[in-house]
Amino acid sequence: MVNAPGSAAPSPFCSAKGCRAAAVWVLAWNNPKLHTPERRKTWLACEEHREHLSRFLGVRGFLKDVVPLAEWESPQHAGSREPHEPGTG
Ligand SMILES: [Zn+2]
Repeated sequence: MVNAPGSAAPSPFCSAKGCRAAAVWVLAWNNPKLHTPERRKTWLACEEHREHLSRFLGVRGFLKDVVPLAEWESPQHAGSREPHEPGTG
């Protein structure tokens, strides 16, 4: 977590093991055994690993959404990221 106010967030990296490529995609997923239905966990993926990671989640039935990172970070999606406000979960 970045907790230095005023500093720009670093470019997010792909979540694939050992991959340091810049993330291009956000995979939104939910494990119904662990999470409430509205909850969204997110993995980041580069172009190369998008298919691999989405397949990993897809075969388990966890995958909910795959959206471009730029779109995910737009205000439209801001409310659906990991909530910090009380009472939203
Ligand atoms: Zn990658």
